[in-house]
Amino acid sequence: MLVDYHMHLERGPFTRAWLDRFLATARERGVAEIGISEHIYRFREAQEAYGAWWEAPPPRPPNPGGEHEGHSPASLKASSVTPSLSPLGLERAGGGVPTARDQDEGWPPPGTAAFARRWWTGRGGQSLAEYAGLLREAAAAGLPVRLGIEADYFPGAEGAVRAVLARAPFDYAIGSVHWIGAWGFDLLGVEGLWDGRDVDEAYRAYFALLGQAARSGLFRIMAHPDLIKVLGHRPSPALDLAALYNEAARAFAAGGAAVEVSTAGLRKPVGELYPAPAFLRACRRHGVPLSLASDAHRPEDVGLDFDRAVALARDCGYREILTFAAGRPAPSPSGDEGLS
Ligand SMILES: [Zn+2]
Ligand SMILES: [Zn+2]
Repeated sequence: MLVDYHMHLERGPFTRAWLDRFLATARERGVAEIGISEHIYRFREAQEAYGAWWEAPPPRPPNPGGEHEGHSPASLKASSVTPSLSPLGLERAGGGVPTARDQDEGWPPPGTAAFARRWWTGRGGQSLAEYAGLLREAAAAGLPVRLGIEADYFPGAEGAVRAVLARAPFDYAIGSVHWIGAWGFDLLGVEGLWDGRDVDEAYRAYFALLGQAARSGLFRIMAHPDLIKVLGHRPSPALDLAALYNEAARAFAAGGAAVEVSTAGLRKPVGELYPAPAFLRACRRHGVPLSLASDAHRPEDVGLDFDRAVALARDCGYREILTFAAGRPAPSPSGDEGLS
């Protein structure tokens, strides 16, 4: 069976009517189960737990095999936060990135702590209880939906992630790296975003963080695993990409995280699936399980281009997809069926 475990309700309200539109597209495209993975920063509890992460010093080089947090599955106890009305209308045109107009209105330069603070804090305010309640009730009513969350990883944010995961009965958490220090490298439409950046250095820093995130043991899935290519920047031949892929795959395996094949990259300037085939083959060699993702931010994109994702996965040797129930990984119902 096909599943799509990475999508966002964020352009609409936390209502059954809005959720039903995502489910309808899934049905049309033969996707048997969906998981909603709202961005963690949307929730008040996360804004509080993460704190002012942009003030942290730039990430240090990784310490392969060194200390890490180990496996600490999220607590599955019910959320204790109080439901309340969620403010709408926080989103900007283009899916939540500053537009040229926003920048005219005095956005600080990208890559600065001031930019990161404004971007991040401007997106909070939603109720985790309301979100979790919607999905819990839908699942209880027999709908094929899972409660997930996409959590940004920063070195030192492990405790914050754990605190948020303990507040609701999540089926799984997806780990992602969108920021290198205070630099949100994937923010489409932000002028000058990559100006003055050393591309090789950006790749090295990104993969170091990705591996560190996976090794935290907090995540069952790693999101869009080579997102650093999103705007089409390519490293020089001097960069040993194969080594970076291999080390990341090793980290996924060590942290018990699945690799996500995401079709979102097809809709971005890079125009490719995440991850690169060589990266996915490295994951396969290390025995890393597979997850499928559209990263849809609107109902029309659920399960989009999954034929291409499945073809890539099969080409790299995958025959099964991981599915989740109440946070416990389970094999896809029958052997080859998943990717046939
Ligand atoms: Zn993401
Ligand atoms: Zn996402």
